[in-house]
Amino acid sequence: MFKLYNSLSRKIEEFKPIKSKKVGLYTCGPTVYDYAHIGNLRAYIFGDILKRVLDYNGYKIQHVMNITDVDDKTIKKSQEEKKPLPQVTEFFTEKFLEDLKDLNILPPDKLVRATSEISGMIEMVKVLLDKGFAYQTKEGDVYFSIAKLPDYGKLANISKQELKTNAEGRLSDADEYDKENIHDFALWRAHDSSDKDVFWESPFGKGRPGWHIECSVMSSKYLGQPFDIHAGGVDLIFPHHTNEIAQSEAANGKPLANYWIHFEHLLVDGKKMAKSAKNFFKLADITDKEFAPLAFRYLLLTTHYRSKVNFTWESLTAAQNALNNLYEQISAFEPAAVGCAEYEQNFLDAINDDLDTPKALAIVWDLVRSDYPGSAKLQSLIKFDQVLGLRIKEVWEEAKAIPESVQKLVKQRETARETKDFAKADELRKKIESNGYLVEDTETGFRLKKKYT
Ligand code: AMP
Ligand code: ZN
Repeated sequence: MFKLYNSLSRKIEEFKPIKSKKVGLYTCGPTVYDYAHIGNLRAYIFGDILKRVLDYNGYKIQHVMNITDVDDKTIKKSQEEKKPLPQVTEFFTEKFLEDLKDLNILPPDKLVRATSEISGMIEMVKVLLDKGFAYQTKEGDVYFSIAKLPDYGKLANISKQELKTNAEGRLSDADEYDKENIHDFALWRAHDSSDKDVFWESPFGKGRPGWHIECSVMSSKYLGQPFDIHAGGVDLIFPHHTNEIAQSEAANGKPLANYWIHFEHLLVDGKKMAKSAKNFFKLADITDKEFAPLAFRYLLLTTHYRSKVNFTWESLTAAQNALNNLYEQISAFEPAAVGCAEYEQNFLDAINDDLDTPKALAIVWDLVRSDYPGSAKLQSLIKFDQVLGLRIKEVWEEAKAIPESVQKLVKQRETARETKDFAKADELRKKIESNGYLVEDTETGFRLKKKYT
C-alpha cells in the first residue's frame, strides 16, 4: 500500500488514483529569471523521487511542469540585461534542464511555458468574471474576490477569523505575499509602462496573467480536473496553491487535485535558502568544489522530505564519501538473476511509507553489509536505484568496462609480481591509479576497481 501525506487533509493517506493504473502529476516549475539554487533543487529532486516511487509501484505517470517565463522578476531581469524577455527566459530554462540532467531527475512528460498558454488563462479569467468571482478595477487589473469563496484558504488552514480581519480587498499587486497579508489576488495585470513591450491583448485590455492562474490553467488542460497529485515546495502552500485551488474550484465547480504534496525547505545557517536572502548556492558552486551532483542528491535522500535540512559542506563531504564507498562496493560485484527478497520487501515498505528515503538508504547499507553474495546484492541495488537515481547500474557497467590501456598495465604488473620485481609492480600500480583505477591484491589474486576519490 502506497501512503502519502496529503497537505489538504493534513493526514497520511493511502494513495488511490482516479484511473486505476494511471497517475496525473503536476509539479510547480521554476521562474526562469536566474539559475536555480540548491534549495529549489531539493523540491525537484523530491518531485523526482515521488515520480519514481509511483513508477516502482507500476503506475503510468503523466507528469506536467510549468516554466514561469513571464512575471515581475523575469521582466525586471530582461530590462536589466537589455535583452528580450524570451532570450533571458530560454537561457535560464536551458540551465534548469541541465541541472535536472546532472541530478538524474527524469524530465517531465510535458514542460509548459506560461507564455504559450495565455489564451487559456484569458478564458479562465472570463469565466471567473462571468460567475461573479472576479472584478476589474478602474486601472484595468482583474482580481479574484476571496470573500466570494466560503472555503478560501482551506489548504493553508486559514481560519475565517483571520480572513475577516485581514481580507480588506487589495493590499498590493504582488503575486507573492505572506499569511499576515491575506488579500484579493490578481488574475490579470493591466499593462503599465514599466512592462514595456511585454503584454497580450485580452477582452479586459492589454496586460499579462497573474502567476497563480498559470498553474490552474496548465495543470487542468493537460491532466483534466480533478487530477491526482499536485506537488511543490512548502512555501507554495500559501498563497500560490491556495489561490490555484480558489480559482479552479470557483471556475469549474470541482476540486483541482486530490493529493497535495509539499517538500520542506533547505536551510543554510538555520535560514531558508533564498535568492532574496542572498544565502544561496547553485549546483555549479558544488561541482566547482569537485563534488558530484549525485552527492547532493544522496545528501538530500538522507533526510525525509517533510523535514527541514540544513546544508553544510561537512554533510555534503560525508554524502560524497558514502556515495564513493557505495560505488566501490558495487564495482566488485558480479551480476545475478536473483536479488535479496527480504531486503526488497523492506525497501518497498520504506518508500511506500510516505517516501521514507532515509530508511530506504539504511536498507541499502544493511544489504551491502549483509552475508548475501555480491551478485544478489547487485541485482537488488540496481532495482532500488530505479527510485534512488544514483546511477548504480551505469557506475557498475563503467567499472566493468576497463580500458585496454589499463588492462595492459594490469597484465604487466602481474608479470612483474610473478618475477618478484616488486619495485616495478609498485610503479605500475601508481600508473594504473593515475588512469583512474585501484588495484588491490587479494588472497586469490587481485581486484581492480574504479577510483572515485
Ligand atoms: P521558484 O523558482 O522561486 O518559483 O521556486 C521553485 C521551487 O523551489 C518551488 O517549488 C519552491 O517551493 C522551491 N523552493 C524555493 N526555495 C526553497 C528552499 N530554500 N528549499 C526548498 N525548496 C525551495
Ligand atoms: Zn504553480
